[in-house]
Amino acid sequence: MKLHEYQAKELFQKAGIPVPKGRLLTSRDKLGSVLEEVPGPPWVIKAQVHAGGRGKGGGVRLVKGQGEAAEAVAELLEKPLVTPQTTAEGVIVHQLLVEEGVDIDKEFYLGMTVDRKLACPTMIFSPSGGMEIEEVAKQSPDLIFKEPVNPATGWMPYQARNLIYKLSQVPGGSTVKELSSTMKKIYDLFVANDCSLLEINPLVITKQGSVIALDAKMTIDDNALYRHKDLAQLDDPREKDPLEVLAEAASLNYIRLNGNIGAMVNGAGLAMATMDVIKLAGAEPANFLDVGGGASEEMITKGFEIILKDERVRAILINIFGGILRCDVLARGVLEAAKKTDIDVPLIVRLEGTNVEEGRKILEESDLDFLVARDMAEAAELVAKEVKRQG
Ligand code: ADP
Ligand code: MG
Repeated sequence: MKLHEYQAKELFQKAGIPVPKGRLLTSRDKLGSVLEEVPGPPWVIKAQVHAGGRGKGGGVRLVKGQGEAAEAVAELLEKPLVTPQTTAEGVIVHQLLVEEGVDIDKEFYLGMTVDRKLACPTMIFSPSGGMEIEEVAKQSPDLIFKEPVNPATGWMPYQARNLIYKLSQVPGGSTVKELSSTMKKIYDLFVANDCSLLEINPLVITKQGSVIALDAKMTIDDNALYRHKDLAQLDDPREKDPLEVLAEAASLNYIRLNGNIGAMVNGAGLAMATMDVIKLAGAEPANFLDVGGGASEEMITKGFEIILKDERVRAILINIFGGILRCDVLARGVLEAAKKTDIDVPLIVRLEGTNVEEGRKILEESDLDFLVARDMAEAAELVAKEVKRQG
């Protein structure tokens, strides 16, 4: 689960990591009172969306007075923002963070994530702040410094010095102290909140020599949310794909993809294999949907409904291996969903396993129109042919 910048910055502030003074703005008419509370001008007005690269998309505006601030708010609030990380339609901005403008001397990158190879949290530090770290990694990997952390000892003060003294220009003593203290706090925050990513890009040194986090990105491991009820409340479903929100509520593993074949499969492995055979047949899946090994009739119904709600879908492939999930349960779930929604696209079914005869019978006796495939390859061929036929 991703947090918004303003939410992460509140947590930073509580942890003693310095951030610019700022206030959240959700409606245009509050701008006057918000500006009174935030030191400035200059102010910086920042779109609060989960997508990164907001600066490049015009979602971060430096304004020098009330008039400019009002213009920026009018252009950003409740309008779509397109960044290198969004789709071409962009995402709607519902909230703005109004901050004091900081006098930047140097921009650094500071982040913490789990290094999967080393299986431990790793601090990442770079003097190439402000740029996307992926770009830095490609163009000048020598400017990325890393310190893996042994969970048994936690973050050690020497590790901060290791990172800072790799800089070609080491800052003054008090700035080194502030940087080290920020690194320690980032590690503590990362562990205490079960983060999978914590990123400050840029972490800046101001012209006055103090260290401030200008941006804040924080992702919480979903599997740990049960023990962070307070963080779970910070979730903003508006930032997610609406179909993914529906799927999440029904405990289905659903991921939107770019194609036009709706797929309903049980088991993540079978779902991956199904994506592969669809692609091999020359078509593109619209989604990954794993209804799970022990899906109930309601879950199947929900899953099928979600696929039918996707307007891009031109054909549906149901590929089920009945193990714990019996084929008759699946068939009834599909019929239930079909009753609620008009199916106006071809349906291809491949069933195998427990109660397969009963499942097929239920489908055949219904007035549902569908094609039966004997195996996965044939199912993929059929579904690809149906999509091609439609042109
Ligand atoms: P994103 O990473 O989504 O583009 P950032 O929060 O990193 O958004 O902002 C982009 C750039 O805007 C930063 O690299 C920094 O140079 C500038 N910036 C952001 N916040 C402030 C601020 N409060 N004062 C001055 N400059 C800022
Ligand atoms: Mg940034």
